[in-house]
Order: sequence, then structure tokens, then C-alpha cells
Amino acid sequence: MKYFTIKELTKSATAQRKGINNDPSREVCKSLTALIEKVLDPLREAYGKPIIVTSGYRCERLNRAVGGAASSQHVKGEAADIRSVQDTPEENKKLYDLIVKLGLPFDQLINEYGYDWVHVSFGPRHRRQKMKAVKKNGRTSYVRV
Ligand SMILES: [Zn+2]
Repeated sequence: MKYFTIKELTKSATAQRKGINNDPSREVCKSLTALIEKVLDPLREAYGKPIIVTSGYRCERLNRAVGGAASSQHVKGEAADIRSVQDTPEENKKLYDLIVKLGLPFDQLINEYGYDWVHVSFGPRHRRQKMKAVKKNGRTSYVRV
């Protein structure tokens, strides 16, 4: 691991505020390490600028606290939500496009609400799914792209 740490992918303001222990198990650490080494580090290297991880691992309690889907790969340490330092849709889209262009071995890649952030996962299923999350009448739906 060159650019990212396990700590960076497990820290959570919500967990701190609510007193939730979000320490990863050994299994989760293995998944986070794979996510960093296969996807996040190569992306960061090619991008050449810092990338902010807004959410990585979420234990079940934390996942419920933030309203995450029960089946979320965040719970397994297989997913990260990332954004650029600028945090503009244009710059966040660059991260998404770069993941595709570099051929990084993602499982799911999601453009969240018009590149508000990018969700990327790495896991054994290797589904290579590209999706976008859109909100209709206040409800989120995921559309394959
Ligand atoms: Zn996510």
C-alpha cells in the first residue's frame, strides 16, 4: 500500500459521534488491502493528485446508522466512496473515467447522483458493473450504463 491506509478507510465521523467501534476484522483488513492495492493505489498513481475517501469500511451498526443498503460491499470492506479534492462533478467524473480507462479490476463502479461522488468496489465476484445512481421522487434507483 502506497497512498492509502487501512485507517483512512475505516475512520468515520458518524462512528465517532455515535460511539460505534468500526475496527476491522482480519478478514475485512484483507479485503481493504486488496481494494487499495488493486484499485485505489493505481488510480491515485495515474491521477497524480490526492483522492479523498469519504467512506470505506462500515461495520453493520455504522452501515445502518448511515442508511447504507444491508447488502452493501462497504460492510465487507470491499468498497470505497471517493471524490476529488476539488469535489466538483467534472473532477469526480475524471476519477470514474480513469478507473475505466486504466482497466482497473473493479467489481462495481457507480456514478453517484451526477458524480456527487464515485463508489468503487473490488471483490471476488468481479462483475465489472458500471452503474449510475439516480433519485426519482426521493428514492434511489441504480441504472446499468
Ligand atoms: Zn459506496
